[in-house]
Amino acid sequence: MTFVYVGNVEKLRNEVAEYQDRINDRYRELLGSNRFQKLEDVVKKVLTPNSFFNTLEDFQKIFPGVKTSGTGSSNNFSISSVRPEIYENGRLVESSGMVSSAFYISEDSFAKSASATFTDKIIGGYIHEFNHFVAFALQERPLELITAVVNNLIGEYYNSPDKVIKLIEAQSTNQNTQNRRELLNLVALAYQYDFQTERTTRILDKNVLDSIGIKVNHSWRDKDLKMAHLTPRYDKGMTIKLLIDGDPFKGVDDKEVINRALDWETNFKPINEYHFSDQFLDSIKCLTLEKVSLDDFLKRNVRT
Ligand SMILES: [Zn+2]
Repeated sequence: MTFVYVGNVEKLRNEVAEYQDRINDRYRELLGSNRFQKLEDVVKKVLTPNSFFNTLEDFQKIFPGVKTSGTGSSNNFSISSVRPEIYENGRLVESSGMVSSAFYISEDSFAKSASATFTDKIIGGYIHEFNHFVAFALQERPLELITAVVNNLIGEYYNSPDKVIKLIEAQSTNQNTQNRRELLNLVALAYQYDFQTERTTRILDKNVLDSIGIKVNHSWRDKDLKMAHLTPRYDKGMTIKLLIDGDPFKGVDDKEVINRALDWETNFKPINEYHFSDQFLDSIKCLTLEKVSLDDFLKRNVRT
């Protein structure tokens, strides 16, 4: 089985049992048989009952350093052993590591999630989180590593333009100009990743949800992209571009959006080109990673 849930939320277990076959058929159709098979292999290797958390507290007891969205909504977390340390040129210090994945989903977290605005089926929320896992499973090196490393490096989850703008405004002349530019470009990269990934995941959701009769219409789909150009007060020579709204994939059909996201190493282009963050991204492409279950990750990696 590819689309599975082996946690213990009764309502979700029942809904998954009811719709599993239809959903698997749809994934096979959307991903093609090679990727579908690869997804199944990663599911078997990585997901165990311990991958599923019913409360955020239980998750944070084990991974206190992983930043969450702060809203209490359901989540799929990528866990990585790659140390958040970079050289002066932006490249990661480590060249290999382990990655794993964990879910936080309960009836309570589902009620707080965006999916609850269009369905009362908890499986609707789980499909969204599972689609983040699909990216983790099928990307050679999960792109989620950007936020995993940047969060750890900077200690904040930059998932809204407001947060990035606040950071830009908080910059002062006390800081070395070079370091300030590097920090902002790295945060802008993490934010761009988050924005695009949410949009891609919602596009994948729509196609999977449709197989169980849940219709979703994304108001932003095929709308012009809205971008902000920001200049820090103390650094007029710098501009940071931020995606605010609209569709980064306007004119591209759903299957191709999904295809490009899964092959991000060819297709993901930072909108802010900056040597430091480009080097950081390039060093992610050079990592050798092993995808493991959370049980194995904890057994083999004492530092979290
Ligand atoms: Zn999401």
